[in-house]
Amino acid sequence: MSSSAPAPVKHSDFIRDIINDDLEAKRHSQVVTRFPPEPNGFLHIGHAKSICLNFGLANEYAQKLPGSGSRCHLRFDDTDPAKEDTLFEEGIQEDVRWLGFEWGGFFHASDYFEKMYEYAEHLISVGKAYVCSLTDAETKQYRGDVKTPGTNSPYRDRSVEENLDLFRRMRKGEFKDGEHVLRAKIDMAAANMKMRDPMLYRIRHTAHHMTGDKWCIYPMYDYAHPISDAIEGITHSICTLEFENNRELYDWVVDNLMEYAKFPSRPHQYEFARLNLNYTVMSKRRLLELVQNKHVSGWDDPRLPTIAGMRRRGITPEALRAFCASVGIAKANSTVDMAQLEFHIRDDLNQKAPRVLAVLKPIKVVIDNYPADQVEELDASYWPHDVPKEGSRKVPFSREIYIEQDDFMLEPPKDYFRLAPGKEVRLRYAYCITCTDVVKDADGNVTEIHCTYDPETKSGNNPIGRKVKGTIHWVDAKHAHDAEVRLYDRLLSVEASPVGKDSDWLESVNAQALQVVHGAKVERSLGECQPGDRFQFERQGYFVADVKDSKPGHLVFNRIVTLKDSWAKAQGKK
Ligand code: ATP
Ligand code: MG
Repeated sequence: MSSSAPAPVKHSDFIRDIINDDLEAKRHSQVVTRFPPEPNGFLHIGHAKSICLNFGLANEYAQKLPGSGSRCHLRFDDTDPAKEDTLFEEGIQEDVRWLGFEWGGFFHASDYFEKMYEYAEHLISVGKAYVCSLTDAETKQYRGDVKTPGTNSPYRDRSVEENLDLFRRMRKGEFKDGEHVLRAKIDMAAANMKMRDPMLYRIRHTAHHMTGDKWCIYPMYDYAHPISDAIEGITHSICTLEFENNRELYDWVVDNLMEYAKFPSRPHQYEFARLNLNYTVMSKRRLLELVQNKHVSGWDDPRLPTIAGMRRRGITPEALRAFCASVGIAKANSTVDMAQLEFHIRDDLNQKAPRVLAVLKPIKVVIDNYPADQVEELDASYWPHDVPKEGSRKVPFSREIYIEQDDFMLEPPKDYFRLAPGKEVRLRYAYCITCTDVVKDADGNVTEIHCTYDPETKSGNNPIGRKVKGTIHWVDAKHAHDAEVRLYDRLLSVEASPVGKDSDWLESVNAQALQVVHGAKVERSLGECQPGDRFQFERQGYFVADVKDSKPGHLVFNRIVTLKDSWAKAQGKK
């Protein structure tokens, strides 16, 4: 494991219990796991959960058992040539590394195609597999259903010689797609439908991104996965609950090849609950639809729960790992609240993101009694008192500043503590100002606010007896930089991942998930900020300078998360 591997998180769960039992009983002397993505899309937060578990376990046991060779493999599960792509493979590797993990072995299921083929011939020769020539529709009929046992295929009793001949000719490309398949000979009446003579190989005259035109038959996942695990010496093969029924077949494949293939270990499959998150979608199909139909800007659109999207959104790997750890490893499916992820994002950024001033929707304030050509450089700490960090910068202050349009009201209600005619408010790090007048346009909208300031109220020396309840943020007009600010919100406007007619689900996409603000004003110190730098804009939220579009002279900030959970409140009001 890499030296930068994150410190193991202390926790226990049923998987760790199983592993500890195995080690104690000396069934294994090392822990070898694998993360097996199909390179047919980008990884999402559900995969992050699986990555943290598989790589996390390997790191943990590599530390507990030094020299044991405990490790986690990255293995591309590339058995379906039609949907897979090297581009996705590169994205996936980047994502795993960004999350803070390094693989202790890098493989493709296709590395083992030759072996898998050899093992298939072995299964045929011992009467455990046969070539079946039923059509897809017929195969379905013969399979029966949960209540009805299946019927044996009329091809089930082909001789070993005929099966071997047909299978070899399948490999040579003598048949069209779908003409024959190779099936395991198990039990057409098995209660577990997966055991009713499952398909092991199918014909696909399609080039493969790794093996090119070498193969026109491809192994099925249920055959390829246990073999890959066994060849690599995987000890604990962890997958999500929907594979529970596949476990019997997994064991059948390993058990029937163990002796012949002399695998270095006997892997076992264990299932845990997949991560589901509300207000977003994780199905690859739906993510693909959003990307391909340009509902979002790409796989790294910050609205998406993809790792690439979350990275661009400004979420840290530490926050994601803490979130995954907090979810735990469960045996039953459930849905996690997005607020839990947001909590961990804030919790991490609170310690990491310096506080700065930015005005998203500016309105100009002229301080009439402030000398026209004076500029003061005021001390402003980057950190609040409860963050044990030091550091500050100077913020310029002069006669003209910007404040947030929302921090001014012409006719405020009684409990309004921000700026209004005749009212006084404190400017963060600066003075108290009192509104004396406003300038309006032809439609009656306020376009400029006039104030006076009290030189006695400079930040730090608050005169006794003066009560100013509100403090607002501001930036100096002359020194501020323009910025584009992208306000991101949850992908879906409904809590549940949409079911029902596929064409309808797009209606659940939150039209407000991205609002672009042009002409925001940010304090002088942000002029030189680098893409990827994260800040807290005081009173607004956490923001990151966009890695693709932001540069000095053209600042673009993404909102990572708001400061408080305004979402729950807004939903409550509705
Ligand atoms: P598909 O079945 O469409 O290919 P997938 O999400 O299963 O999608 P894989 O690339 O096969 O994609 O997944 C790789 C690994 O990530 C698998 O071990 C899978 O179990 C795990 N995984 C996928 N989604 C989740 C999730 N939501 N929570 C936890 N683990 C997940
Ligand atoms: Mg899958």
